[in-house]
Amino acid sequence: MHMNYNSQLIEILGVTSSASKAEIKKAYHKAALSSHPDKVAEDERETAEIRFKTVSEAYEILYDDDKRHLYDTHGMAAFEASRGGPGADVDINDILQQMFGMGMGGMPGMGGMPGMGGMPEMGDPRGRKRKGRNEEQTYEVTLEELYKGKTTRFASTKNVVCGVCHGSGGKEKAKAMKCTICGGSGSVTGIRQVGPMLTQEVSQCNTCKGSGKIYKDKDKCKKCKGNRVVEQKKVLELYIPRGSREGERIVLAGEADQQPDQEPGDIIFELVEEPHEVFTRAGPDLSADIHITLAEALTGFNRVVLTHLDGRGIQINVKQPKGRILRSDQVLMVSGEGMPIKKTDDKGDLYLIVKVDFPEDGWIQNDAMIQKIRDALPPPETAMSADVVDEVEFDADATLDDFGAGSDDPRGGAAWEDDEEGAEGPQCATQ
Ligand SMILES: [Zn+2]
Ligand SMILES: [Zn+2]
Repeated sequence: MHMNYNSQLIEILGVTSSASKAEIKKAYHKAALSSHPDKVAEDERETAEIRFKTVSEAYEILYDDDKRHLYDTHGMAAFEASRGGPGADVDINDILQQMFGMGMGGMPGMGGMPGMGGMPEMGDPRGRKRKGRNEEQTYEVTLEELYKGKTTRFASTKNVVCGVCHGSGGKEKAKAMKCTICGGSGSVTGIRQVGPMLTQEVSQCNTCKGSGKIYKDKDKCKKCKGNRVVEQKKVLELYIPRGSREGERIVLAGEADQQPDQEPGDIIFELVEEPHEVFTRAGPDLSADIHITLAEALTGFNRVVLTHLDGRGIQINVKQPKGRILRSDQVLMVSGEGMPIKKTDDKGDLYLIVKVDFPEDGWIQNDAMIQKIRDALPPPETAMSADVVDEVEFDADATLDDFGAGSDDPRGGAAWEDDEEGAEGPQCATQ
């Protein structure tokens, strides 16, 4: 059984089962080179790519003492669970989860683990590159900006691959030495004991910054001082289409920090809509309160009731006599005056919520005025009658919060609820 497992991988690499680590590495380099997708004809590329991954995988397992031990004791089953098929990336997290009941967590900048088939040193600069990390941030926009659309420019400082050394970190013709810390692999692996568990950690080599190579000080590129990247200021443009919504993401592709042998990630802005003083938005629709006087509610009006998000006045004409009388909380729907709908000329609807402002207390000055109002308004309904009548005192500033408060009766006032919520309803009654 032991031999069977071994012979599988050993066949792939073309070494003997007693091959030394150096021999395994040499065989891998040879096999990898001949199978590299960039070294073969177009029509063979797919096959070559699978072969390349298989070879890389075999090497990764045979070369690494811990993985080899997993392999020798469990066979490919130790690595199979998370594989989609031959050549698919293996997630060491899954293996550790199986073997030791724990993973190692995400490694910063490593995308978990380079994978059995994707060690950093194989990131051929001409081959298919791994993608760097995305930079995500929120971006606050006003409702006005979302209504009109917005283009904004900002200066961004990012790392770009050094143009002088093209990311090698060394002077032209200078010979790089293999990084002794990571042995040229660009990543360092450590087995760490956490309690009774063994965990394996892979992280980017700090000494060579993942390249596997280092230069003597005198051979380092003058521009980047061997860092392989330099800072660059760039003016970026962020375009927010009209009608955009909260939570939408605007992607500036490839504008994140560059790393040699990596495709740069994206800068991603997630829109956050600032609350608006006047308008409330729900999808493509807007709503807003409009305040009218009691006289306007009764006699009509023709005036601007609202300034829209683009500064236009919205005029409403309510005609009297014999027209509609407006009441508080009545809703007037204005078709096509909501938010723009992306990629169209359409707009949502605008819902105007009528608020009738009653006159202040004490506004009625004398009996003559009272008589005029009474004459103008409809007469009272016929009075109720009863055998016994008590005239009572009242508190005109009461609220329903006190109704049954503290009585445990669910029908009572919600004294334990939010003050704000409870205060809203009764306030209208006292106005
Ligand atoms: Zn440089
Ligand atoms: Zn290194």
